[in-house]
Amino acid sequence: MALPLPRPLQTWLPRRWRSAPPIDTGLWLGVTSALPFVTALSIREQERLRTLCAHFLQEKEFHGAHGLVITDRMALTIAAQACLPLLQMHCAHGNVAQEDAEKLDWYGDFVGIVVQPGAAVAQREVTDGMGVVHRYREVLAGEAMDRGPVMLSWDEVSRAAELTPLGKNVVIHEFAHKLDMHGMGRAQQPDGAPPLPPGFLGLGADDARQHWRNTMQEAYTGFKEAVAMAERFGGEPPWLDDYAATHPAEFFAVTCEAYFVQRERFAQELPALLPLYDGFFRSVA
Ligand SMILES: [Zn+2]
Repeated sequence: MALPLPRPLQTWLPRRWRSAPPIDTGLWLGVTSALPFVTALSIREQERLRTLCAHFLQEKEFHGAHGLVITDRMALTIAAQACLPLLQMHCAHGNVAQEDAEKLDWYGDFVGIVVQPGAAVAQREVTDGMGVVHRYREVLAGEAMDRGPVMLSWDEVSRAAELTPLGKNVVIHEFAHKLDMHGMGRAQQPDGAPPLPPGFLGLGADDARQHWRNTMQEAYTGFKEAVAMAERFGGEPPWLDDYAATHPAEFFAVTCEAYFVQRERFAQELPALLPLYDGFFRSVA
C-alpha cells in the first residue's frame, strides 16, 4: 500500500505500510554491477534487495565527515551491502516478515551513518588490572555502536570488489555487529551470539542458544590457536583477518563478511559455521 505521507509521519506506520521512493534503474545497475556478491544473486533476490534498499535509504541519514559529500551512488553502495544479510532472514522479533522492509527493525536502534573519507582515528582509553590507564590511538575502517550510528570509511567501502576475493567487507562487518547487538541490555556487550529465530535448526530456544555458543566457541578457539601458531612459529596464517582473534564479537563480524562474499571458501575453511550461519541468515529461505 503506497501512502504519500512525508517521512516523519511514515515512521509511525508499521513498516509494511510505508512506501519508499523507488531506486532509479541506472543507479541500481551501476552500483550493483561493482558488487560481485550482489550480481551473484538471482534476479528475484536482486529485486527484493533493491526494495529493501529503498526503505533503508528512506530511514537512514548519511553524514559525510570532513567535508565528504555523500552521493546517491555512495549511499546506495552502502545500503546494498548493509541490507544483503537481511534478505533471507526472519524479523528481529523472530516472526517471518510479511514484507522484507519489516526486517529493517534489526537496524532500528539508529538512524545515522557517518562516512569518513579515509580511515578514522579514535582515541581509546583502557584501565588495566593494576589500575593504570592506557591511552592509545586506533585506526578504524568502521565502527558500530549500540543505539548509535554506524561509522564507515569510504576508502574501505569503495574497495568492496577488490576485497571480495579476500572474504572482506567492512559494511557487512559493521552491520553484523548491529545484528549481534540487537536487543542487548544497556550494560551488555556484543558477544557474537545474536538473537536466534524460533525453531533455529529444529532446536528449542535454550538448546539453540547453547548450540550456537558451543559451535562459535570451538571455531573461535581454533582460529585463535591458528593465529598464535602463525605468529610464534611462522606457520601459515589462517584465512581471514587475525583481528577476528581479538574478541568473539569480532570473530562473528569477520566471519560474516566471508560468509556473504566468499561462501565457498567459507564453507571449506569454517565448515562448522556454515549450517549455523545458514540457520540464522537463511531462516526463511
Ligand atoms: Zn568489529
